[in-house]
Amino acid sequence: MSEKIVVIGETKDGSLRNVSYEAIAAAKKVDAEAELVGVICGSGELEELGKEMIYYGADRVVTISHDSLTAYTSEGFGQAVLAVIHEESPKSIVMGHTSIGKDLTPKIASKLETGLISDAVDIEVEGDKIQFVRPIYSGKAFEKKIITDGITFFTIRPNNIPALNRDEARSGEITPKNLDITDIRTVIKDVVRKASEGVDLSEANVIVAGGRGVKSEDGFKPLYELAEVLGGAVGASRGACDAEYCDYSLQIGQTGKVVTPDLYIAVGISGAIQHLAGMSNSKVIVAINKDPEANIFNVADYGIVGDLFEVIPLLIEEVKKL
Ligand code: FAD
Repeated sequence: MSEKIVVIGETKDGSLRNVSYEAIAAAKKVDAEAELVGVICGSGELEELGKEMIYYGADRVVTISHDSLTAYTSEGFGQAVLAVIHEESPKSIVMGHTSIGKDLTPKIASKLETGLISDAVDIEVEGDKIQFVRPIYSGKAFEKKIITDGITFFTIRPNNIPALNRDEARSGEITPKNLDITDIRTVIKDVVRKASEGVDLSEANVIVAGGRGVKSEDGFKPLYELAEVLGGAVGASRGACDAEYCDYSLQIGQTGKVVTPDLYIAVGISGAIQHLAGMSNSKVIVAINKDPEANIFNVADYGIVGDLFEVIPLLIEEVKKL
């Protein structure tokens, strides 16, 4: 019988997050022969989500639907996922390195008394040797880690390991698991959300990020316009958030979100090390800054020395012509 890898799916607004599909691809890298078992926790009907995991490469999926899993709590999701893990006895477990992944996986690892490699951006396999590549020192270096004992439990950074192609011809069993979820001490009474439109920052392929150089909340408007024509999201430096030009939910960096889009446009951002920690692994970095000495140019693939209020409207005009 082939060995199993459990892939913990994560949902947002009724759909699976992209990183769940990337986690399936990561599991395949670890062992292309293993049976990939997806796990989805939530409430209501979860079968359609199960099918999506299968289309993206899972062999079968276990769904756990329960009223107390409507919103994420580590106690509820922890119990549900652990029940599946105990039943499946996988050799490996993988989840996205998201806010929920960062909270849930260490708790599960401690219950299983096993280690955890977090935030892998790549997996290198040579024969039996599996190396997990992860950034250290705020992204200034990478380390390669191997697991020598116990379960191979790891999380992957979103947007680094491409998902496999969606294939609707794939089929697999979707098993609803009934579980009595008890002892939840956290009660989510209400989820109050900031209305955010457009693309999710942590999964965006294109990010237009503004810094203190943007100078005001109004100054961000052209950045939103550029992000829209590029099909991307708007992010910010802490400088811009501290100055109240935008909400802290947009902050990128050491104490904000870590992003790896295909294209990162840093606008009026100086490039402090704490900001670079959150974006320096972006595939292509474009910096727009009026100071030619700004540190951001040291990590940029393309640099525009100029006034952002002149450059951004020109860029919008050009992109619209494409
Ligand atoms: P500034 O450094 O003030 O840079 C503004 C830039 O805009 C300048 O380079 C200037 O030349 C340029 N500019 C001005 N006007 C224009 C114009 N008209 N056109 C073009 N360019 C223009 N920072 C983060 O971003 N994320 C974090 O997560 C984070 N975490 C931190 C954690 C700790 C513990 C600490 C101590 C700091 C942290 N910081 C973080 C803050 C960080 O050190 C910097 O202070 C911050 O990143 C600076 O933001 P900024 O680049 O927008 O502002």
